[in-house]
Amino acid sequence: MAQRNTWQRDRVRAALGDAPGFVSAQDLHAALRSDNTGIGLATVYRALATLAASGEADQLQSPDGEAIYRACSTTGHHHHLICRSCGRAVEIEAHEVEAWAQRTAAAHGFTQAEHVVDIFGLCGACALAADTAASAEPVTPADGAAPATTEHVTPENGD
Ligand SMILES: [Zn+2]
Ligand SMILES: [Zn+2]
Ligand SMILES: [Zn+2]
Repeated sequence: MAQRNTWQRDRVRAALGDAPGFVSAQDLHAALRSDNTGIGLATVYRALATLAASGEADQLQSPDGEAIYRACSTTGHHHHLICRSCGRAVEIEAHEVEAWAQRTAAAHGFTQAEHVVDIFGLCGACALAADTAASAEPVTPADGAAPATTEHVTPENGD
């Protein structure tokens, strides 16, 4: 099997390593395009699939069903906390989840059970930014300050 496209996969791997969190193929493609690599989106998809299959990258699904990837700092089994706004990710261990998964699988007679558990939310910075944006919205008028809409309206010439 020819390996003539390994440099492209190396570039995708490097770009993935530079990303601050989980990214989609489109995100990576945009980053590579700004570097003038000439690497196409289809190549990015293929490279990411290869990296995920070989365990060099984590692949998971965002809440809107998009495949997202990350070069994880650990290859062992782990879980993630992911910011759905900026993609920042924290690798977490979840001992309770491991125990619960084993117990639940065994209770139903399942062996070789695997699981995927990731938590999507807003990171501290994004939550703060969202709060700031919300408090900048116009305040609703207090009681008694309702706009004056009760003035008599003179009907148009009623013919
Ligand atoms: Zn990870
Ligand atoms: Zn965030
Ligand atoms: Zn687990």
